[in-house]
Amino acid sequence: MNVTIWNEHRHEKKNPKVSELYPKGLHGAIADGIASDDLTIRFATLDEPEHGLSQAVLDQTDVLVWWGHIAHEEVSDEIVARVHKRVLEGMGLVVLHSGHFSKIFKRLMGTTCDLKWREANEKERVWVVNPAHPIAAGLGEYFEIEHEEMYGEHFDIPAPDELVFVSWFQGGEVFRSGCTFYRGQGKIFYFRPGHETYPTYYNKDVLKVIFNGIRWAGAPRGAAPKYGNHQPLEPLQ
Ligand code: ZN
Repeated sequence: MNVTIWNEHRHEKKNPKVSELYPKGLHGAIADGIASDDLTIRFATLDEPEHGLSQAVLDQTDVLVWWGHIAHEEVSDEIVARVHKRVLEGMGLVVLHSGHFSKIFKRLMGTTCDLKWREANEKERVWVVNPAHPIAAGLGEYFEIEHEEMYGEHFDIPAPDELVFVSWFQGGEVFRSGCTFYRGQGKIFYFRPGHETYPTYYNKDVLKVIFNGIRWAGAPRGAAPKYGNHQPLEPLQ
């Protein structure tokens, strides 16, 4: 399976706390954490030509992982349209944390994707609410992240096709933190944790979820449907 991890890669350049925590970038930590013989992983970042997402790269990508935060508006509409088309054609998309406000996620959802947030070093308890789902494979009833940013409801998304995780935060809020969506032939998994100033992408349960999410989003599927005028399969008279 060919995986492209797209990272905005700006916090790492601006904030020493982030570059100390993630010397290889958020994308590098995620790649190290999900490494497996059957995954071929490449990186793409905002400041590369075409944001690293040329048509050739997208054509060779089974699953695209997306992390962005402070520069969503710098992602060109042309590239967003290109990614959108590939998702509808069947490319898997795993959107992480602040990617909820990315142009591509908002376009696929059709809503504001807004939410409540707070940075206060809170504990997050991520509950598995769909234990039969393949994205929950290998997890317990819940797992905890000692320090995270809070995201709270209401999360302005369409009702997810499947809800896999609900998070509870120390301050009392809850959040639909693991959501799947089907769009065209494509599968989308949104997963909440991953604020850049916390070591979340070294947490083994978080990495397991991303690994499972990639496998789910990139799993084989049926033939592409044909649309438009159609000849009858059986004689009509
Ligand atoms: Zn954040």
